[in-house]
Amino acid sequence: MVTRKTVWIGTNWKMNKGPAEALAAAEALKGYQPPEGVKPFIIVPFTSLQAVADVLKVSDVRVGAQNMHWEGSGSWTGEISPAMVKECGADIVLIGHSERRQHFAETDWTVSRKMAAALRHGLRPLLCIGESLDEYDYGVTAETLARQLKIALHDVAVKDLPNILVAYEPVWAIGAGGRAADTDCVARVHIGLRQVLNEIAGPEIGARVPLLYGGSVSQDNARGYVEQPNVDGVFVGRAGWNVPDFEKLIDRVIEERAPA
Ligand code: PEP
Repeated sequence: MVTRKTVWIGTNWKMNKGPAEALAAAEALKGYQPPEGVKPFIIVPFTSLQAVADVLKVSDVRVGAQNMHWEGSGSWTGEISPAMVKECGADIVLIGHSERRQHFAETDWTVSRKMAAALRHGLRPLLCIGESLDEYDYGVTAETLARQLKIALHDVAVKDLPNILVAYEPVWAIGAGGRAADTDCVARVHIGLRQVLNEIAGPEIGARVPLLYGGSVSQDNARGYVEQPNVDGVFVGRAGWNVPDFEKLIDRVIEERAPA
């Protein structure tokens, strides 16, 4: 049974939706009123960021970018600075998605730099962590996640931790070839992540860091994750790309919530 905690539900559009399609999706989302306690967000490509953020700035849907550089400016051809992301109207910035770690040489070190930079610029970083299939098979999930989390948060002030989001996204669960993690497995992993956060920040602040699950989340399984005590939301890829499907997924997470 879902209790009345704040629930973050977001979708990552990845390399989909050019400016025209993104604008149409933003217009469709503009009037959406999420159920009480739900914070919906969309993570959009850079070329659509400003237009989407403009449309949604008076809505309940937060907007985020998919990446950024850690430096403020300079000779970094092809990169986007934190200030540029902010100027486009984004609230959130995705940091360390596994597709960036796998295909674009993102490391724990760059993730760590980006986390601190995002907060310095008033952005809410959404940190993605997750073990590979090999790491899962070798039984080092907890160690892998603790390492990723501790390095990512190394230069983040404890007082800023309630302004971040963390998504546990096992690499083996993501995308068309992925298999959604069992809710028991996610519940167990999130208890471990909470312990790491408590170690870093103490239990009062550790408890205030939202922990999301992502990886083949669908309308059918989303509620099962959010029902777990240390799961504060879901981060969705494919199942959220179509606006009515995204809204339906949120409704299905919430519709059987327990009364306050
Ligand atoms: C993702 O890539 O972050 C993701 C969760 O994708 P999907 O839901 O499509 O597995």
